[in-house]
Amino acid sequence: MATTAETITLVETASSWCSSHGILMGARDRLTKEPLMGKYIFEPAPFSLFPTLFSKSAFALAYQMAKPFNSMVHNVASDKEWLLSAIQVAAQGDSDFTGRLVQLAQEVLAREARNQQPRAQKVVLGILRSDYMLHGSDSIETAIPLQVELNTIASSFGCLSSKVTKMHQNLQHLNDRNDLPDNGAAQGIANGLATALQEYNRQRTLQLTSAATDNTNTTTTDALVVMVVQPGETNSCDQRDLEFLLKEEHGVRLIRRTLEDLAVAATHQGLWDGLELYLTGDDGTDVVAGVVYYRAGYTPNDYPSDVEWAGRAIVEHSAAIKCPDVFYHIVGAKKIQQALAQQGVLRQFCDSNEDEELLSSCFAGLYALGDGDDSQVVEMALANPHGYVLKPQREGGGNNLYDDDLVQALKQMSHAERGAFILMEKICPPSTEGSLVRGGEVVYKGDCVCELGVFGVTLREYGGRTILDKAVGHILRAKSVTTDEGGVAAGYAFLSSPKLV
Ligand code: ADP
Ligand code: MG
Repeated sequence: MATTAETITLVETASSWCSSHGILMGARDRLTKEPLMGKYIFEPAPFSLFPTLFSKSAFALAYQMAKPFNSMVHNVASDKEWLLSAIQVAAQGDSDFTGRLVQLAQEVLAREARNQQPRAQKVVLGILRSDYMLHGSDSIETAIPLQVELNTIASSFGCLSSKVTKMHQNLQHLNDRNDLPDNGAAQGIANGLATALQEYNRQRTLQLTSAATDNTNTTTTDALVVMVVQPGETNSCDQRDLEFLLKEEHGVRLIRRTLEDLAVAATHQGLWDGLELYLTGDDGTDVVAGVVYYRAGYTPNDYPSDVEWAGRAIVEHSAAIKCPDVFYHIVGAKKIQQALAQQGVLRQFCDSNEDEELLSSCFAGLYALGDGDDSQVVEMALANPHGYVLKPQREGGGNNLYDDDLVQALKQMSHAERGAFILMEKICPPSTEGSLVRGGEVVYKGDCVCELGVFGVTLREYGGRTILDKAVGHILRAKSVTTDEGGVAAGYAFLSSPKLV
């Protein structure tokens, strides 16, 4: 690709800004494509050289929807009966993953029934991210946001996105910065984790004063945050920035553990009738997991054996505040997104008619498959395959089916197999010019589309208090118009920031 001297200088400056400020991802070996994390070799994350044009009103609307979505997720997670019944078809069609999550949720409920009391920890932390693409107009200014999906587990790139905003602000001419809104995602997510740990410690003090047992060990053991991570994670800079922020700004410790580490080393002991989650800290001393924050566990690849599921269960049944617990996790399933979009369902999970109206305004067409008679839905999709996306119960990018693949799959699958999928109207965003940089060079220059995610942070008690409820920041990902999929970690999209028009 012919590149002008001016572009080369700009790429050089932007890449240096990334390196100076930690917009980095773990490099992969050029020959084997294996992550080089063990060697701590990083390279700039894929980014857009310029901020991406985005509708000012859609941006404001997406922020406005974050708190109503926080409430909605909590209300759906609170209605266990509706949730488990709505997910049932998907759990049957996708028994190895969605089915296992539902099984875990049922174990929690069975324990509550057996003990005749609610689970040890009633407070749950949500770090949510609602993703949108623009639709309905060729003009960025007048297009409206439609929700792509609502992430309730491991919503990533908050920290790197906050920095990409600063990079674009830095590279812009001074008087052009007004249209580049600040991005508080990193601080807001760290604040959510710190507030959750504070809540755990508050509850712990109450437990201590009411517990009749000898608590000499408990009183000297620190509670901290445990981040559950994938082995060989390449997005560790985004994650560890939270660890550093927590330590520097909140005086809070965070340790990283895999699901396997938890299965092998975590135990239930101490307060809450012996349900505190004990681990060995990095310095070899005992620690208590007050908050468990999942940045893994969202894909079946994270559970290669029953050992990882055992790690998940130890956490789920403990007194730690989970981010998310298994119910919040299930609310993020595509099947639940589809079920909530059905006529007359959403209102019961919203705090007001206004909230319901607001949230439903961003729902694209969503259709059930494998759930009763779906022949009309299948026909509709086969008649116009380019107008739809076929989506399985998966997260992390690269799983959806489009065009010929969609046709093939719909023709081959049985009714029961279709239950693992939903059908979604294809969102058609207006395109805008962009230059996308990877590995120090512009790898694509041309028409781009983008996806905005807004982070909502919420700390709530089932049947009780709302301790924290905020819209904290955003992520904007740009990709070439020719790419169907969207993940940055998955290699499809590039980090950007919105330039509001
Ligand atoms: P994942 O959990 O894998 O991130 P998504 O629902 O976000 O699943 O889909 C992945 C990507 O596919 C999105 O980032 C977006 O680029 C594209 N996509 C998903 N749904 C639609 C849709 N309805 N219309 C157009 N593109 C879509
Ligand atoms: Mg997504």
